[in-house]
Amino acid sequence: MIVLKFGGTSVADASRILAAAEIVRTRLPRQPMVVVSALAGVTDLLLRAAGAACAGERESLDPLLADLERRHRWAVEGSLSGGRARHDLALAVDAQFEELRQLLRSLRVLGEATPRALDAVLAYGEDLSSRIVTAAFQDLGLPARLLDARRVMRTDGRHGAAEPDLSAAETAAHDHLLPLLSAGEVPVVGGFVGSGPDGRTTTLGRGGSDLSASVLGLVLGAEEIQIWTDVDGILSADPRLVPAARTLPRVSFAEAAELAYYGAKVLHPASIAPAVARDIPVRVLNTLKPQAAGTLVEREAGAEAAALASVASRPGVCAVRVLGRRLRVDPGFLPRVLTAFEAAGLVPDLVVSSEVGVTLVVPEGAALEGAVLALPDEFQVEVTGGRGILCIVGSGLRAEAAVRDRVLAALAGTGPEMVALGGAGTSVAAVFPEERLGEAVRRLHRTFFEEVPA
Ligand code: ADP
Ligand code: ASP
Ligand code: MG
Repeated sequence: MIVLKFGGTSVADASRILAAAEIVRTRLPRQPMVVVSALAGVTDLLLRAAGAACAGERESLDPLLADLERRHRWAVEGSLSGGRARHDLALAVDAQFEELRQLLRSLRVLGEATPRALDAVLAYGEDLSSRIVTAAFQDLGLPARLLDARRVMRTDGRHGAAEPDLSAAETAAHDHLLPLLSAGEVPVVGGFVGSGPDGRTTTLGRGGSDLSASVLGLVLGAEEIQIWTDVDGILSADPRLVPAARTLPRVSFAEAAELAYYGAKVLHPASIAPAVARDIPVRVLNTLKPQAAGTLVEREAGAEAAALASVASRPGVCAVRVLGRRLRVDPGFLPRVLTAFEAAGLVPDLVVSSEVGVTLVVPEGAALEGAVLALPDEFQVEVTGGRGILCIVGSGLRAEAAVRDRVLAALAGTGPEMVALGGAGTSVAAVFPEERLGEAVRRLHRTFFEEVPA
């Protein structure tokens, strides 16, 4: 069997849903199952609606809800030809909005949203899209069957960033998905949503539908996982920063994981690990150009792979420099610093350490304060916010000294504040003031992916 995951823009409106149906139809002989995201922009709107409800801002909540309802109603009207099926779907969608309204009302009364309540709100995005997509597929004659994501995507109880529980998900997928696949049906499951050990709704973190797809692919032993999105595949840079970015035909699991981690939003960073566990190829494809080859992510990028694959980048980080006060060797210094960050749930993007001090690059946000407070008083701490990180990735960085030299030379011209070579071996990361990040990415891209190397 294969897993087909359609992202938000691939189910954004009726015409996209119909295009997705054609993609599924041509793949019926390969026993597909479908994972769908919320319609494009819906998760953001739900987050804003929850915020407005907690703040008691009726005047902003009402238009947000109206916008959400309008989008879903259009999708229902445009993707079903009419008759009984459309009527039933419209009623089901109305009922879900009624539930959502009640939930938001209770947030307004409480004046706050716990992570558990927020997950309950956010799950409506995928609940609605999976329902609409299933009905539209059925209307087009596909043997689609809706399955509630909570029944298969079993997770731990960390609301907002739940970890899939692979053995529970495997049992559930075998119980609920395999019989449908064996009967020739096409199961449709909302991505991003799961259920914790207590059965309550959890979510996997933003962009988590990719992770749903790869976990289901893993537990079902899929032959391939296809990520259908709005670009031609994994590109040599973020196309919003670099319009000249080009599609990579093949990248290795390791390269894809690193690119995703450092900001290539096209794949969720955690979505590669399940594919690696069972060596399942992942293909990233464009819903608007279904014939194009896309990017194939697999164990090895192949002999013809370029020395450098791509440059990823992410704004919104800060550099935290920690200095031990005592000018003597303190073997416990680095572990104590790392423990404080770990306890605050912060995973550093980069760590550069010397005998007297260490600088960690971490995402900006509330957790940082907790980490700083947890450090021993005698340490001196300096936080520099408003930074961005870039990461240039390629197997040539490990294999060829000349490639490393050229990357370092090109970076030197961009004025980085920190550079790290040699961590994973196949990447070089660098930190810049946020306003210079885009230019640095464009410059590296010009040097390595647009000009023919001398
Ligand atoms: P979906 O809704 O299909 O999950 P996302 O918005 O999550 O789509 O991811 C696709 C987007 O990722 C693209 O539209 C593109 O702007 C962005 N992106 C950032 N870096 C890259 C990259 N290196 N390759 C491809 N897309 C990238
Ligand atoms: N709808 C969720 C989000 O916007 C999950 C996803 O799209 O992958 O983050
Ligand atoms: Mg995504």
